[in-house]
Amino acid sequence: MENEYDVIIVGGGVIGTSLLYMLSEFTDIKNILLIEKRKIGEGSSDSQSNSQTLHVGDIETNYNTEKIIETRTASHLILKYTQKIKKDNLIKQVQKMVLGVGNEEVENIIKRYDEKFISLFPSIKVIKSKEILKVEPNIIKGRSPNEEIIAAYSKEGHIVNFGLLSTSFVESALKNKKNIKLRLKEEAIDIERKNGFYFVRTEKSTYKGKFVVFAAGGYGLYFAKKLGYGKDLSMLSVAGNFYYSRNVIKGKVYRVQKGGIPFAAVHADADIANKKITRYGPTVNIVPFLEHTNVMSTYKYIKAMGLDKETVESLINISEDKDIQKIVEKNFIYSIPDLGKYYFLKEEVNKIIPSLKYNDIKFYKEGGGIRPQIIDKKMRRLILGVVDLRGEGIEFSMAPSPGASSCLKEALKYTRSATEYLDKTFYKEKFMKMFCNSEDEYKILTSVQKH
Ligand SMILES: Cc1cc2nc3c(=O)[nH]c(=O)nc-3n(C[C@H](O)[C@H](O)[C@H](O)COP(=O)(O)OP(=O)(O)OC[C@H]3O[C@@H](n4cnc5c(N)ncnc54)[C@H](O)[C@@H]3O)c2cc1C
Repeated sequence: MENEYDVIIVGGGVIGTSLLYMLSEFTDIKNILLIEKRKIGEGSSDSQSNSQTLHVGDIETNYNTEKIIETRTASHLILKYTQKIKKDNLIKQVQKMVLGVGNEEVENIIKRYDEKFISLFPSIKVIKSKEILKVEPNIIKGRSPNEEIIAAYSKEGHIVNFGLLSTSFVESALKNKKNIKLRLKEEAIDIERKNGFYFVRTEKSTYKGKFVVFAAGGYGLYFAKKLGYGKDLSMLSVAGNFYYSRNVIKGKVYRVQKGGIPFAAVHADADIANKKITRYGPTVNIVPFLEHTNVMSTYKYIKAMGLDKETVESLINISEDKDIQKIVEKNFIYSIPDLGKYYFLKEEVNKIIPSLKYNDIKFYKEGGGIRPQIIDKKMRRLILGVVDLRGEGIEFSMAPSPGASSCLKEALKYTRSATEYLDKTFYKEKFMKMFCNSEDEYKILTSVQKH
């Protein structure tokens, strides 16, 4: 059958394309199809949709040690890949810091960045006003000398154009001269399982696959539920928008975020695709869509969420968390026209760059995206980070932040599942040679995530 494949990938973002690359480069699987309803890398992975941070775990104050080690090891795969590919504008080294403003945050930073932490990241150092002035002067200019500030700073940050990275993965995969087919601008609308095969239906055709991976954001949970999987999961779509100003910083300035919260506090970022601007965000708004500003996705969102008793109880439980309440409330205010911009400037932007005025910042209309935050209905709580759901010959990836940074680690997981299921070979030695310095690193990459 012409339309028959060993593996079908639905979704051409950074997760789906890294999987395409991994399967083509490190396995003997030959027939692979990737279905993408837009172009490659135009969803959350697009440079305008996300914050472009290569998350390593050093300035993310909401991560615990386990998450830090996992994120650091996973993100190194991207560094290795981009060093090999050497494509312009894919990745850029920049300085980065997490800034503490006010007594509580200053104490938080001093406590967190102790000797033990710095031994994990030797490039990090704690710096005070005088040094901050040297490395990122606009943080100090216009700030009251009475305001306490401190930062944990490193020269070794990276910004990544994850949309371009997706395109690069596809180019690398196509070089392997296997039977790789791309169906772009074609939407998967249904899936069913018959006689051990999956049949993925689009508006144009039906494709038969032995193994399927949905790397389609929140849509993954919608399709999983259609097939009877994911009953213990629900989701919240968390939109993130940005403001921007003329370029006023050199790298990345993160803020202190409390542990256990799945999103970072508003930060300021140099932009890899537009050197003239600095971006501020993302905001945190719960919306009833699976895709940014796509109102037509509401029906599928409700199906993915599943409005049952456990979901409602989970939502109540999550909304009772005082820290989440605070974030939701202030972000609601930020979404009010004009007044919202004023508060965003005062409460967020000016904490980082005090001298900016109301007319200096603009809403970033072209940007923003949705983070599919998955809810564990049994535990009645949000899961931090990427969730994958495994069925018989099928996987569903739902990847909020730092999903893009760990895309190759996710791809490795699906690659191992696919080769195991299809009785094919994963070229572990070739993978190790390209990506790992030690067997320990490989173990971290392949350890099962606990949520
Ligand atoms: C505001 C914001 C800031 C973020 N910042 C960072 C950051 O700084 N660093 C980081 O590592 N991560 C960040 N993330 C997370 C990161 O963007 C995602 O983890 C990552 O892009 C997810 O990749 P993906 O391939 O799963 O999703 P996408 O890139 O969204 O790809 C999914 C693809 O599936 C396609 N699709 C959906 N349904 C179908 C269908 N039925 N048929 C065919 N195709 C379909 C879509 O068109 C889309 O192209 C951020 C996310 C947001 C929203």
